[in-house]
Amino acid sequence: MRDTGRIYLDHAATTPVLPEVARAMHEALLEGFGNPSSVHREGRRARAAVERARRQAAALIGADPEEIIFTGGGTEADNLAIQGAAREAGAGAHIVTTAVEHHAVLDACEALESEGYRVTVVPVDGDGRVDPDDVLAALTPDTVLVSVMLANNEVGTIQPVAEIARRARERGVLVHTDAVQAVGQIPVDVNELGIDLLSFSSHKIYGPKGVGALYVRRGVRGRLKPLVYGGGQERRLRPGTENVPGIVGFGAACEIAARDLAARAGQERRWRDRLIQGLLEAIPGALLNGPAPGQDGAAAAGGVPGLDGRLSNNVNVSIPDVAVDVLLAQLDLEGVAASSGSACTAGSVRPSHVLRAMGRDLDAATHVLRLTVGRSNDDEQIEQALEIIPRAVARLRRAGRFTVQRG
Ligand code: PLP
Repeated sequence: MRDTGRIYLDHAATTPVLPEVARAMHEALLEGFGNPSSVHREGRRARAAVERARRQAAALIGADPEEIIFTGGGTEADNLAIQGAAREAGAGAHIVTTAVEHHAVLDACEALESEGYRVTVVPVDGDGRVDPDDVLAALTPDTVLVSVMLANNEVGTIQPVAEIARRARERGVLVHTDAVQAVGQIPVDVNELGIDLLSFSSHKIYGPKGVGALYVRRGVRGRLKPLVYGGGQERRLRPGTENVPGIVGFGAACEIAARDLAARAGQERRWRDRLIQGLLEAIPGALLNGPAPGQDGAAAAGGVPGLDGRLSNNVNVSIPDVAVDVLLAQLDLEGVAASSGSACTAGSVRPSHVLRAMGRDLDAATHVLRLTVGRSNDDEQIEQALEIIPRAVARLRRAGRFTVQRG
């Protein structure tokens, strides 16, 4: 049972599984238990369920089903793209990425670097946006892959991936985008983006955890080396008996995401803008991180019409003179689930590498509150949050609780 009276504002960390998704998984667990590789009826039934999910996942991003490789989540999809491309190209291969990527990308690059591969990390501007010219300038004759995220998980910045892809692919370089935060939130079409590889994840779109996919454009599979070896599943790129219930749940979540995307984005954008405006007005010294709502229009969103340069569900503010770990604990007690940025660095309150890359000082990069709205919310909750959060900040400031333990 879900807690009643809670205000869940952490949809970028994970989303609650939708009842329709859970029902599909329940059926797959109990009835569709066969091994999809088996030739008997039980096996064929499980195979049919996996292939249906593949069609649902492909449809959400405008791909062909055979271009979808199911993985154990977004992190694995990122690693398969990055390590897979570098290792297939071999020693001396060069990768270009940006300073604001998720750790799944940055740490994979770092691991490759420690083995002798070369990596260039391109800087971003004050809104967290990378300049396509800088990415292009970083290419060398040895570059095998460019990896630029579609939307940032901390500040919601949407990157000009389509332009980067068009120009980099003219040079024969593979282009990967981590679209874990973007898929299900903004329209994503692999052909409009023109990328070769795209990662997305089930638990960010109201599906189960531990399942995701890498889109691999037709003709690109041979340029990737698998991370693990075994049977022939997932076109040998991700062998191992399929996580059938997880994949079925992911497929159902993809279908629902495609169906509801336009209606949800408009509503969430209103909540986002209301929260940003309300927090900046009510909290002295609060500073918005990432692109201002409405700024730049479709151009900033990689040409996606009707969007500004910021994810429709993302609010990120620096709140000086407040220890965020104490604030988050206080908000939790008062029924508000919020975050200081990415879930992985939360808990230790390390300054955000994203905000540092955007030129924020150590203080602003450490005192961060991220709120991400979603299906769990309603108008009333947004107004309640706007009462609870500024009140908690004022109380903590009065008590002088602003020393932060930097991890
Ligand atoms: N990439 C981005 C941008 C993310 O936000 C996340 C999760 O927070 C991941 C990758 C990792 O995805 P997963 O949790 O499915 O491994």
